[in-house]
Amino acid sequence: MANRLKGKTVLITGASSGIGRSTAYEFARTAASDLKLILTARRLETLQEIAADIEKNIGKGVKVYPLKLDVSNVQEIQGFVEKLPQEFKEIDVLVNNAGLVKGVAKAPEINPLDINTMISTNVTGLIAMTQAVLPIFLKRPNGGAGDIINVGSIAGREPYQGGSIYCATKAAVRSFTDSLRREMISTRVRVIEVDPGQVETEFSVVRFYGDKEKADAVYAGCDPLTPDDIAEVIVFTAGRRENVVIADTLIFPQHQA
Ligand code: NDP
Repeated sequence: MANRLKGKTVLITGASSGIGRSTAYEFARTAASDLKLILTARRLETLQEIAADIEKNIGKGVKVYPLKLDVSNVQEIQGFVEKLPQEFKEIDVLVNNAGLVKGVAKAPEINPLDINTMISTNVTGLIAMTQAVLPIFLKRPNGGAGDIINVGSIAGREPYQGGSIYCATKAAVRSFTDSLRREMISTRVRVIEVDPGQVETEFSVVRFYGDKEKADAVYAGCDPLTPDDIAEVIVFTAGRRENVVIADTLIFPQHQA
């Protein structure tokens, strides 16, 4: 696998914590030399710390470019590729991971601002990132080449009470991914979905507006996955031979079966 990631440029959204952060480390650990990572999120300082740590402690000549990018801001996304340093412009793999859930409430009670945040981050942001990066893929020979890996959720397949908007956003990711895969069939652009079940990250802290006690209660008595469990699958998928498409993976802890 290492050789197939050699020389690649990988962009990860939501790389400042959880699954995105772990995916950055996993790419760096797995790749041969010459890997370039573009790590994006809103918390630039955290990204800078991660970038410095990867370059210093994983080494292997991996180069990391931390970039402040709010995916819910379409204007920020448009044109970001042109602003990348020349050596990071030729993106090969886009991991659309940034996402969140805000609140747990029945549909009539959901705060409209939270609805907007979830849709603009999980859906519009993911689509806008895809639109920004696809032209790079499509100008390559034989119809184009590259990987788009979208992080969806089990919630996009199995909706739950109190999560109607989040579930709807992840169902939208699923539908968009499926359609795009079909649109790319005559190219070498792989369009992939990875759907986690319960993973212990900052996700629940964000869900409860920073209330750590409520967030911890979500994981009480269960054995959730770690972000590394998902990162390993993402990197394995990206490292397959070009003609091998692991299109759709659902990963959850045993207790969630
Ligand atoms: P975390 O909260 O740990 O990470 C979310 C990441 O998304 C952070 O890096 C955050 O960075 C970034 N992010 C949020 N909003 C924006 C924005 N507007 N622009 C740019 N970046 C943003 O959660 P997870 O790692 O768990 O979540 C990653 C993905 O996995 C999400 O898409 C989530 O829906 C999905 N998922 C998670 C599950 C779980 O149980 N944890 C289960 C199923 C799916 P910053 O705040 O710095 O911007």
